[in-house]
Amino acid sequence: MPKAPAKAPAPLAGAFDIEGFRTDLLNWFASCARDLPWRRTLEPYHVWLSEIMLQQTQMDRAVQYFQRFILRFPDMASLAAAHEDEVLKLWEGLGYYSRAKNLLRAARVVMSGHGGEFPTTFEAVRALPGVGPYTAGAVMSVAYNDTRPAVDANVERVLSRLLDIDRPVSEPEVKRRILAAARELLPPGQARAFNQGLMEFGALVCAPRKPDCLRCPVTRHCLAKASGTVAQRPVLSPKPSIIRVDMACGVLVTGGLVFIQKRRADDVWPGLWEFPGGVIEPGETPEQAMVREFSEETGLRVRPAGKIAVVRSSYTRYRITLHGYFCQAEPGQNPQQDHQLHEAEEARLLPPPQLKVFAFPSGHARLLSRVLTDVRLEGLLNSPD
Ligand code: SF4
Repeated sequence: MPKAPAKAPAPLAGAFDIEGFRTDLLNWFASCARDLPWRRTLEPYHVWLSEIMLQQTQMDRAVQYFQRFILRFPDMASLAAAHEDEVLKLWEGLGYYSRAKNLLRAARVVMSGHGGEFPTTFEAVRALPGVGPYTAGAVMSVAYNDTRPAVDANVERVLSRLLDIDRPVSEPEVKRRILAAARELLPPGQARAFNQGLMEFGALVCAPRKPDCLRCPVTRHCLAKASGTVAQRPVLSPKPSIIRVDMACGVLVTGGLVFIQKRRADDVWPGLWEFPGGVIEPGETPEQAMVREFSEETGLRVRPAGKIAVVRSSYTRYRITLHGYFCQAEPGQNPQQDHQLHEAEEARLLPPPQLKVFAFPSGHARLLSRVLTDVRLEGLLNSPD
């Protein structure tokens, strides 16, 4: 039996004061919009960059990184010509590094395939590396005022409250309903202000934890407020549980240099640099794990030369405890020539100040700060292996 096509979501018209909502939201946005750097220019390059940065990142942090990024890469041509290591270094601390790699790839596509001009159609923007339907809709509406919805988790939350949706927002049917509602609410010719207004409203008023219903400019339209169900909206799916991981790594100091390696493109944190190491197996001490992992990853036999620090970091639902050790090569090896690349794309031996040029995952970046200020480093740099 062929499957029946999914039912189209019921239209809002008739059941919801669409015009009144548009007016209330646009008036509020006109008086409360934050002064953000990309809003001053509305340059497609700036808007696109801000949208990529804002995925998974708080506004304050995104503004700070945006300003640094624009200073170094003021236009698409300068970004496209950059070395990946430099882009990743500027991105260091923002996380989700595939965004930075895709930015660079997209900039090169714009230079080679669009003559250096940011594309002007939804399809062409959507085809850029790292751009999904939400980002393409946001860029098209904000940069070009194209009448397109832009529905991210923020807007999903707002509309699930406004329309009092009693099913999890992660369900495909609910997502379709929210997208259809966002499309219907969009005032023709005012997508730029409306989409930004909806996102701003979700960030400043209809916030995730404590929606400010008392000062809400659209409270008269809110079905969850009328039903007393604001605290239950949006309906969320259960959160994935936290996984704790203990890891150990080694900072090999040899011949006045420090060993680092570059993570593979198909691994987590692709293209970032690290000190070799890995997960501590049951029954192992962190020190034993460091020695074993170092050998498995690089083919080099090392001996511990002092604990540096224990640093903590997070990656999605993982909470990582990283034990960092100084180490030295066992006699009879030349790390420069003898190292192998079992888990990495590239390895380098560098003087300590040069390590700061490269981007590291947050745990290793913290460990590096400790390494560079550790009083024992000088002695190890000068000691024979
Ligand atoms: S009344 Fe409260 S829940 Fe409803 S839209 Fe306004 S802030 Fe959000």
